[in-house]
Amino acid sequence: MFDTASLHPWQWPEKHWRDRVNRVRAGKKLSPPWPEGKRCAVSFSFDVDHESNELRDGGESISRMSWGQYGNRRGMPRILSLLKKHDIRATFFVPAVIAKLYPEEQQEIVGGGHEIGIHGWIHELNSILREEDERDLMMRSADTLEQITGNRPVGMRTPSWDFSEKTLSIAREMGLLYDSSLMADDSCYELLEDGERTGVVEIPVEWIRDDAAYFQVTRTEAMRIAPQDVLAIFMREFEQAYEEGELLQLTMHPHIIGYRSRIWILEELIRASKAKGDVWIATHRKVAEHASTAI
Ligand SMILES: [Zn+2]
Repeated sequence: MFDTASLHPWQWPEKHWRDRVNRVRAGKKLSPPWPEGKRCAVSFSFDVDHESNELRDGGESISRMSWGQYGNRRGMPRILSLLKKHDIRATFFVPAVIAKLYPEEQQEIVGGGHEIGIHGWIHELNSILREEDERDLMMRSADTLEQITGNRPVGMRTPSWDFSEKTLSIAREMGLLYDSSLMADDSCYELLEDGERTGVVEIPVEWIRDDAAYFQVTRTEAMRIAPQDVLAIFMREFEQAYEEGELLQLTMHPHIIGYRSRIWILEELIRASKAKGDVWIATHRKVAEHASTAI
C-alpha cells in the first residue's frame, strides 16, 4: 500500500487519482422532452442564508448579523411578492437554524406553493465535518424543516456547494430525490458514486449563475459588476438554454438580490421567460421529478 499522504500529486499511482476523480461523478444526462410541449425550462432558487454565513464562521459581528436580517425583512418580501405577481413557483434552500429563527417566513414560503430544500444546519462546510456529525446535521436539518413547514424536503443544496467524501452516501441513505450543488453540466444528470449509479438527480449550479459571485460587497470590497451587466450574463445563459432546449437554473440570495437596485433583474428574467410562450418555469423538485423519469 502506498502512503499517498506523503506523496506529491504527481507521484500518485494511477488508481489513486482515478479513484479521487470518480468519487462523485456525472453519469447519464437526464433530459426527457419538457412537459406540455415546452421548449426549455427555467428554475429559480434562493439560498436563504440570512445570518447563517456569520454564524457558520463562528462570528459575532452585529453588523454582519444585521446584513443577514435584511434578507428576512426586505429581501424575502420582495422576492415572494414578485413570484406571486407573476404566479410562478421557486425553490428555497434554508439552513435549519434560519428556519428556527424565522418560522413564519418558512411557512409563508410553503404557503405560496414554493419548495423548501435542505441547506445544512448552520451553513456548515461538510468537508470539514466528521462523518457522524455530517449525517446527524443533515438528518436534523431535514427533520427541522419538516417540523416547521409540514413538508419533508426531497432535495438539498450543500452550504457553499461544499461536498465531503460522504455527502452523497448520506443523501442516498436519506432517500433524497436530488442534489443541487455540483457543476458538471448545464442540464440535469444522474450522480455516480465510485462509478455506481445512484438514482439521485443533480440539478447543476454554477458561479456564473449565482448572484453572490457578482454582488458580494463589503466596506473594503467594491461591487465588481453593474446590475445590468449581471442581467446580460443571465440573459445569455437563458437565450442559449432556450436555443438548446435545455435548463436555466439560477441561484440567488435574499440578502443579495433583494435590494432595490437588483430585484428588477429577477423580474426581467421572469418576463423574458414568459415572453417566449413555451418555457416551463418550475421548482427544482418538479424539474428533478421530471428528469428522474429518464433514469
Ligand atoms: Zn448558502
